[in-house]
Amino acid sequence: MAVPAPNTIPAEDNMEQYYGWQWELNANCKSEDPEYFFPTSIAEWNDRLPTLRKICGECVVRDMCLRTALAEGRQHGFWGGKSEKERRLMIRKVGLKRLIDYLDSNH
Ligand code: SF4
Repeated sequence: MAVPAPNTIPAEDNMEQYYGWQWELNANCKSEDPEYFFPTSIAEWNDRLPTLRKICGECVVRDMCLRTALAEGRQHGFWGGKSEKERRLMIRKVGLKRLIDYLDSNH
């Protein structure tokens, strides 16, 4: 797998060229209803979070999923084991570039 140079965040259009999308074939959620990962109310979030954490917690491509969501600026939904709020907090605390560099260093 080609890994972008450090300090480089591929633009959305370049993500496929860098990583391809083969990793999604190993997603633990590939047989789940995608809508389930997009709760629309606090009640739905509270109701689904334990299941979402379990599904993503057992996913072998969790880091890649999180990286993609961060690099593409996905604002909504549960990606890579993190909620919208958790991703915003991570970016605020650590910084987007450092997060992506860290995730890249694990591949
Ligand atoms: S981390 Fe979660 S949302 Fe991402 S591919 Fe895996 S199971 Fe799906």
